[in-house]
Amino acid sequence: MAMATTTRASALMGLRCRACHLLQPADERYVCADCYGPIEPEYDTASFDTDGLRGAIEHGPRSLWRYAPLLPIAAPESHFAVGWTPLIKAPRLGAAIGVSELYVKDDSRNPSLSFKDRPVALALARALELGLDTIACASTGNLAGAVAAAAARNGLRGFVFVPAGTDESKVAGAAAYGATVVRVDGTYDQVNRLCARLADESGWGFVNFNLRPYYAEGSKTLLFECAEQLGWHLPEHVVVPVGSGALLTRTATAAAQLRATGLVDDERFAIHAAQPSGCAPVSDAVLEGYREVRPVREPTTIARSLAIGTPADGDGSVAAIRQSGGSAASVSDEDVVEGCALLARTEGMLGEPAAGVVVATARALAARGAFGDGDRVVLYVTGNAYKGAVTATLGPVIAPDADAFRAAYARQLA
Ligand SMILES: *Cc1c(COP(=O)(O)O)cnc(C)c1O
Ligand SMILES: [Zn+2]
Repeated sequence: MAMATTTRASALMGLRCRACHLLQPADERYVCADCYGPIEPEYDTASFDTDGLRGAIEHGPRSLWRYAPLLPIAAPESHFAVGWTPLIKAPRLGAAIGVSELYVKDDSRNPSLSFKDRPVALALARALELGLDTIACASTGNLAGAVAAAAARNGLRGFVFVPAGTDESKVAGAAAYGATVVRVDGTYDQVNRLCARLADESGWGFVNFNLRPYYAEGSKTLLFECAEQLGWHLPEHVVVPVGSGALLTRTATAAAQLRATGLVDDERFAIHAAQPSGCAPVSDAVLEGYREVRPVREPTTIARSLAIGTPADGDGSVAAIRQSGGSAASVSDEDVVEGCALLARTEGMLGEPAAGVVVATARALAARGAFGDGDRVVLYVTGNAYKGAVTATLGPVIAPDADAFRAAYARQLA
């Protein structure tokens, strides 16, 4: 395959299997060669001189690529300015929900208006390195827009697969960027299984399957930025919206890497999960004391971007929360609406329902006494409410089946 003009970050040692712990080379594999378990980049963090690394980051680009030494791949030449979003002090929201030192990480200010631009930036770099001409994804809404925008920007073909009930405005946005949007009559988990199959058969780069080891690493950069923006300190608490659990587990990885490289030396850093009660497999497992998440068959929530009943990083999220001394809550749809309204009225920010889930969760945790007086609490606001006002023509809804897809989309596949 043709190799694009990217260079390997020197600290990358390879990819380690989370199941059997085998360290393997960063070649074309995307699951463990030995046991098919999930594999993750591993870095020689001890090789860094802390002051040199801090200086290199601080003089880097004003995007997530400033953290390239701690990422598995270098920025492609065509990269978007993804990341380096503001961390905003939110005293009025803090007063409303009972948190004295509250910050909002406003990650709705990315090119396609959600944090999904971060993992997609890494997956896209990897797709270019592998010389692929098509990128694709299974999405609950925001990933569709991020993949479609990145494909457009790089002249690649984009295919996005979404459950038929996905928010119209998000789907229309992806179609407006020129991607083929395939609506599937099924849950996200059924869409996911269809895509796993197509990823094996198609030769395309599916950002959340065969590019997943790279994709997931982009989520670390949210915490890297928060730490830098707090003068190289970890906050005492972070409240993270959970869908697949990639963002939550990589928040834990990011904290470990910040400590291992000496960039921060804070000991306390609790990670809390925010989920809607209509789909809360991770929060339920944390609150009820299970080690493994129980799948939610039919998610029902207005926070559709978090409606993943069988989260790929669910068990990992539960473990990361426990290890950090964190907690969780699940909140009703009414609380989600109230959370969005509070964020808008106290801080002038229009977040999507996932943001309402985070605000309502922080309020519930504060009421439970989870935050000490004077502790810094960071809320991740991961998506913008302004995704309407876009129109595009959509193709037919299909059954969750690879043959149905090929029959209905023969023209786009030609
Ligand atoms: C995808 C998404 C999440 C959850 O991210 P995961 O890594 O899947 O857990 C949170 N908020 C928004 C707005 C999202 O689109
Ligand atoms: Zn393995």
